[in-house]
Amino acid sequence: MQYGFFVDGRRCVKCYACEVACQQWHGLAAATWMRRTVFETVEGRFPAVSRRFASLSCMHCEHPACAAVCPVGAIAKRREDGLVVGDATRCIGCRSCALACPFDVPRYRDDKTMDKCDGCLSLGRGPDEEPRCVLSCPTRALHFGPLPEMEAEAASCGGARLEGATAPAVLVAHRPRPDWASQAAPSPAATDDEVPFDGAAPAAEN
Ligand code: SF4
Ligand code: SF4
Ligand code: SF4
Repeated sequence: MQYGFFVDGRRCVKCYACEVACQQWHGLAAATWMRRTVFETVEGRFPAVSRRFASLSCMHCEHPACAAVCPVGAIAKRREDGLVVGDATRCIGCRSCALACPFDVPRYRDDKTMDKCDGCLSLGRGPDEEPRCVLSCPTRALHFGPLPEMEAEAASCGGARLEGATAPAVLVAHRPRPDWASQAAPSPAATDDEVPFDGAAPAAEN
């Protein structure tokens, strides 16, 4: 059975609790790289601007390119849950996995061995428990479980599985784009505290 993540971007408020929880539980120093990262995309032009968030980590792909290229077999895909895990005791730090991963996931520790999300298995997470990032999310934007369950949750709100030759086990739903055309134009009136931004330099006062 393949497990995976459903990332409900409609609920994400970009609070970074998932990133911080992962860093702290896995002993990663603050202000270094992260196993999980909250991405933001901005679309439109002020004031018709839309921001979208998605918290992503390793995709635990069904066909992991990282494992396929590792010359010493230090990356394995688990039969029981499909999670893709690294073995630091075998890794020789050649970085082949980082070059092969289409999502730029693998990172390297100070000891020159590869590291990435392991689904919190190294913390002793049981099969019926949720990873730390999922548990820490205050808005329930992150979900983890059997892929068919994640697919059903995503489908109920217009989400879709990420595409790619490696078949990433991650589904994402985004909040709909605002219908700017149907909304009232910004008021031309402005107070001293409410200066409309139009890109021009403010007029000099006499
Ligand atoms: S996202 Fe990259 S590192 Fe993770 S399983 Fe897929 S190919 Fe490997
Ligand atoms: S599952 Fe665990 S290791 Fe992976 S991103 Fe979440 S907290 Fe980090
Ligand atoms: S903890 Fe939840 S709401 Fe906060 S950034 Fe992560 S996914 Fe978004």
